[in-house]
Amino acid sequence: MVKIIAIANQKGGVGKTTTSVNLAASLAAMNKRVLLVDLDPQGNATMGSGVDKHNIERSIYDVLINQESVSAVAIAVSESGFSVLPANADLTAAEVELLDIDNRERRLATALAKVANSYDFILIDCPPSLNMLTLNALVAATGVIIAMQCEYYALEGLSALLDTIASVREAVNPDLELQGILRTMYDPRNSLTNQVSNQLHQHFGEKVYRTVIPRNVRLAEAPSHGLPVMHYDRYSRGSKAYMALAGEIIRREEQLANLDQAAHLVE
Ligand code: ADP
Ligand code: MG
Repeated sequence: MVKIIAIANQKGGVGKTTTSVNLAASLAAMNKRVLLVDLDPQGNATMGSGVDKHNIERSIYDVLINQESVSAVAIAVSESGFSVLPANADLTAAEVELLDIDNRERRLATALAKVANSYDFILIDCPPSLNMLTLNALVAATGVIIAMQCEYYALEGLSALLDTIASVREAVNPDLELQGILRTMYDPRNSLTNQVSNQLHQHFGEKVYRTVIPRNVRLAEAPSHGLPVMHYDRYSRGSKAYMALAGEIIRREEQLANLDQAAHLVE
């Protein structure tokens, strides 16, 4: 079954897009069929995947507003082995236009449901706000990965996001769960990093991914070449970290599937 994961945090600059692009590439490298949905009008995930946002005929805007099919709009990035549902500045208008539409919070979910059999993972790169676009992502998703930097204000704002996830689960999408918390731009030499990290473990336990993403200049350079880091510098620490994260996510999924099977045998 497809796993639809929203990568969220209403804070900007915490590594959502970097995680979306590089996790997509890493999962694809592990032979998973992956669709990356760019849901940020900045179009950074689109550009970072090697698709020029200025040069696309159709985008996620057309999927949300004109109900064009995902398969007609998605672009396969052959080098990286995944597909992208691209975004550009048009998406800013969608945010406003959606307000006048029936079932406005379900538009993305409805569109993705039709391609669910074509993918193993659908990753949604969320914009840095809790707006109608992010709401569409949370209604469409089965899991949320919260990307966060272990800095002083990191925990602030986390409760707003967790509250939003809880109310979406209650009101529209009972399948939605916190998939995991990912520590990005991690610097173990910084004592604050360790302090915040400890707090995260206390609050979220097993939900905190073992894999941490180190601060790595290759991760920051790769997008300007339109490449995921593993195709830019395969042996960089950033590349290895995102491969490790993909492995951890796949293992967790397999464990859950095994538990499910065992439960059925007992019944
Ligand atoms: P968001 O999508 O949450 O706004 P981005 O993924 O765009 O965040 O990251 C913000 C900036 O930080 C970008 O310039 C990106 O290249 C850089 N960056 C993200 N993760 C790392 C990392 N682990 N090491 C170094 N630079 C990073
Ligand atoms: Mg971003």
